[in-house]
Amino acid sequence: MLKIENLHITVDETEILKGLSLEVPAGEVHAIMGPNGSGKSTLSYAITGREDYEVTHGDITLDGESLLEMDPNERAAKGLFLSFQHPLEIPGVATMNFIRTALNAQRKARGENEVTAADFLRAIREKAKIVGLSDEKLKRPFNVGFSGGEKKRMEMLQMAMLEPRFGILDETDSGLDIDALKMVGEVVNEMRDGSRGFLVITHYQRLLDYVKPDRVHVLAGGRIVESGGPEIARELEEHGYDKYIQSAA
Ligand code: ADP
Ligand code: MG
Ligand code: MG
Repeated sequence: MLKIENLHITVDETEILKGLSLEVPAGEVHAIMGPNGSGKSTLSYAITGREDYEVTHGDITLDGESLLEMDPNERAAKGLFLSFQHPLEIPGVATMNFIRTALNAQRKARGENEVTAADFLRAIREKAKIVGLSDEKLKRPFNVGFSGGEKKRMEMLQMAMLEPRFGILDETDSGLDIDALKMVGEVVNEMRDGSRGFLVITHYQRLLDYVKPDRVHVLAGGRIVESGGPEIARELEEHGYDKYIQSAA
């Protein structure tokens, strides 16, 4: 489903990813773990097509189609979703309207009709309950004045509403308590099926107690330096990243 081949990414004239290859088959959840600054967020921005993340070599394909020539909106229309490590605040735009606009933009790009007001309200209220956000928060400006944990809940609400084919969670677990981690697990596990894929980026093992990955990859020095099963995450929890940092240097 998602295939990354020999990806090199340069940001501000510095090469951050140096030949990263990764394949996530449909229906699987893969975790990316790695030390701070190893390029995890850079990878997520490269996949979603953020400006200034220059691809100098390699390719990223979704269902066999290269994403490189597509702008971020086209990639979103193909079903890519990124939950940001540091979610933005958007003053002046009510949360409800922000999410409805995103949903309708995606539908329009796919040649589908806009969601009706009644269907939208029903869906967002149901999903807000699952992520633990009150109706009152949905009426407030998007993320403005929300706590770190509430912003992460909002990211999960957007993902649940947009129902991506491929979801990327960039350190969604950072700053979350156990109840919130369970909520993230609930949202991802509810969406897991044979056709959707997920990339769960995390610095710590604990989220993976709730979102069970099929494969775990270690990113260090701009490349995947180790891949295996969930035992890798447990080993990292015990021994840290030293071994990988040294071998990548
Ligand atoms: P991680 O998410 O694994 O902590 P990042 O992908 O955020 O790592 O960053 C990887 C490296 O790229 C870091 O050394 C960081 O300073 C650098 N970097 C990331 N974004 C930029 C940018 N916009 N401009 C310059 N350097 C950047
Ligand atoms: Mg970081
Ligand atoms: Mg990061």
